[in-house]
Amino acid sequence: MSALLPTAIVGSLPKPSWLAQPETLWAPWRLEGEALAEGKRDALRAVVLEQQRRGLDVVCDGEQTRQHFVTTFIEHLSGVDFEQRETVRIRDRYDASVPTVVGAVSRERPVFVDDAAFLRSQTDQPVKWALPGPMTMVDTLYDRHYRSREQLALEFATILNQEARELEAAGVDVIQFDEPAFTVFHDEVRDWGVAALERAAQGLRAQTAVHICYGYGIKANTDWKATLGPEWRQYENSFPLLQRSSIDIVSLEGHHSHVPLELIELVRGKKVMLGAIDVASERVETPDEVADTLRSALAFVDADHLIPSTNCGMAPLPRSVAQDKLSALVAGTALLREELTSTSR
Ligand SMILES: [Zn+2]
Repeated sequence: MSALLPTAIVGSLPKPSWLAQPETLWAPWRLEGEALAEGKRDALRAVVLEQQRRGLDVVCDGEQTRQHFVTTFIEHLSGVDFEQRETVRIRDRYDASVPTVVGAVSRERPVFVDDAAFLRSQTDQPVKWALPGPMTMVDTLYDRHYRSREQLALEFATILNQEARELEAAGVDVIQFDEPAFTVFHDEVRDWGVAALERAAQGLRAQTAVHICYGYGIKANTDWKATLGPEWRQYENSFPLLQRSSIDIVSLEGHHSHVPLELIELVRGKKVMLGAIDVASERVETPDEVADTLRSALAFVDADHLIPSTNCGMAPLPRSVAQDKLSALVAGTALLREELTSTSR
């Protein structure tokens, strides 16, 4: 990531309609067997080409090979029974029927490493791979075995670290952990959340990132956001802890969010992946809007530490909207880059 203001999306992109039902989370696959495996690779290839065509600097897989950013990873682990389901409250927000932890959790084999190697083979640009964070994983399960969110999180962190090391060996440049649960469970973030995250990232030479957001633009999330008041200060809790942590990059919401951008000051010294694209709206931002959001952050982060990005994943959006938002991100970044380089000349 040598360019000034390297652009990168948070993670997911819409899947092609021949692969999975559009504009749906947990969309069922429309292919099976070898056709599904080939379809996933073709979709991954397509999102790489699209990101390149639109001018992104850091390329990712758009999560084309997974159904969901948390569930798909957990499905590959042993110790979790997907047949035994219990209803729990997720992120203190909505009830869902979730799988049960019935024994010691472990990773029998690599989960995404082949997919990441395939991504690596498609481009010479830096590549980023997202994994779920330990606390967010814990929050999507009913735990009958450990009966301790902290202990389960630390077990998941060990597993994530195994996976992350293999992703790194496969050529991934940036490994990102998605921790939307960090905006909700403030005491747990302090008591063990950051420690679990650091264990997941331990010993990596790849850059490490944590993405903390207010969720996809789905109804349960937008309803919850409506209750948070005019200023969202949830980052005030986690950011000082992350500032002192070993994590290199902090990814947060910015554009159209009620997050006061001055909170970025709390992670001074870290790289900041700032959302300048709203994923809860189908309106495509103008380049000026993107540049404005990024420019306002420059009071709190040095330009050489700013990574222009999206607020969250774009999986639920119509495909053409998500693609145009990629272009908006790149065009807005180009405006600001031009300003910064012309004033420093
Ligand atoms: Zn997110």
